Amino acid sequence: MRFIQEFRSSELAKGLISRIHQKSKTQARFMEFCGGHTVTIFRYGIRQVLPKTLEMLSGPGCPVCVTANVDLDKAIALAQIPDVIITTFGDMLKVPGSHSSLQEVNASGADIRMVYSTMDALNLAEENPTKSVVFIGIGFETTAPIIAASILQAEERRIRNYYILSMHKLCPPVIRAILESGEVKLHGLICPGHVSAIIGSHPWEFIARDYGISCVISGFEPIDVLQCVDMLVAQIESGQSKVEIAYRRGVHPEGNQQALKLMKQVFEPCPAQWRGIGEVPDSSLKLKKEYQHFDAELAFDIDPGPTYEPVGCICGDILRGVKTPLDCSLFGKDCTPQYPIGPCMVSSEGSCSAYYLYGEGFEG
Ligand code: SF4
Repeated sequence: MRFIQEFRSSELAKGLISRIHQKSKTQARFMEFCGGHTVTIFRYGIRQVLPKTLEMLSGPGCPVCVTANVDLDKAIALAQIPDVIITTFGDMLKVPGSHSSLQEVNASGADIRMVYSTMDALNLAEENPTKSVVFIGIGFETTAPIIAASILQAEERRIRNYYILSMHKLCPPVIRAILESGEVKLHGLICPGHVSAIIGSHPWEFIARDYGISCVISGFEPIDVLQCVDMLVAQIESGQSKVEIAYRRGVHPEGNQQALKLMKQVFEPCPAQWRGIGEVPDSSLKLKKEYQHFDAELAFDIDPGPTYEPVGCICGDILRGVKTPLDCSLFGKDCTPQYPIGPCMVSSEGSCSAYYLYGEGFEG
C-alpha cells in the first residue's frame, strides 16, 4: 500500500537504527507525548533496537486515559437521565468511573450509542426530536474542530436537542505543567503529529526556548518514529534545542487555519482536570457564550456524586511519566485488557495496554 509500506520498510529502519547508534553518545531521555506513538514504539519493538544511551518514556497523550473521573462521572450521570441518548466514540465505553462505566449503565438500560462522527450524533438528534442527544466531547485539538463544525451545523439546521459535554484537552499547556512540576527530566520530546496537523509547530516552541528540550513532530509509522529519534539525537549531539517537523506530509508550521478558525469561533479556553496531573489552566475548551445552549452541563442538572480512583491503580503517575506500568502491582494480574481496572489498560492507546499487548516485561 503506497505511503504505508514505505514507512514500514525494514531496509530503511536498519539504516536509521545504524545511524542513531553511530550518532548517539550522550545519555538522553525522550518522552513520546502521544499514545499513538506509544503503540508504534511497542508494536515494532523500537525501544529494544535503540542504543543504551537513549531512554524512552510514555507521556499523557491518550485522551481517554487523561480524562479525570470527575468528568467521566458526569457523563455516566448524564446517561442515567430519562430521555437522554449519549453518543460517544468506542474507547470511552469501558473506562471505569468512580462507581460504574458507560458500558455498565448501558447494560442497565441507559441509551448509549457508539458513533463514528459528530454528524452521526447530530443526525440522531434530528431523528429523535423528543429525546436529548449528548455527544461526549473527548479528545485533543484534533477532535475539537469537528465538534465545533457539528455545533455550527446544529445551529444552521435549528436542531435544539443536541448537546456537547465538553471534556476536550489541549496538549501544549499540559506539557508545560509537567515540565514546571520538575518531576521528570527530559532532553527530547516526540510531539504528536495529528495534534500538530491542526495547531502547527509554533505552539511547541516554548518547550525548546524555555526548557532547552529538543522537539520533533513525528508521524505514526515506525520509520516516522525512528526518523524523529534520529533528528532528536542530532539536536542533542549538536547542543541544540529547537522544534523540527519530521512529519512533513501531515504538518505545516502554521497548522490548519480552517480548523483553527472553527475552534476559535465556537470555543474558548478554560481550565481542565487531568488524571494524575490535576487542574491545568487553559488546557480545555468550553463553548462560547453564544453557543452555550448546546452545553450539556448547563442544560441538565447533573449529580455525579463523590469521586473515587481505582484502588492500587497508578495511571496518574504513568501519565506524568514518573512510573511505568511495570511499577503497578496489578499489572497483568488483576488488571488486563479483558478485565481493566484503570483507563491506561482500557484504551487501545494506553501505556498499560501497550505494555501488556506487546510484551515489555510481561511474564504472564
Ligand atoms: Fe491502572 Fe491497570 Fe495500569 Fe495498574 S495496570 S496502572 S491498575 S490501568
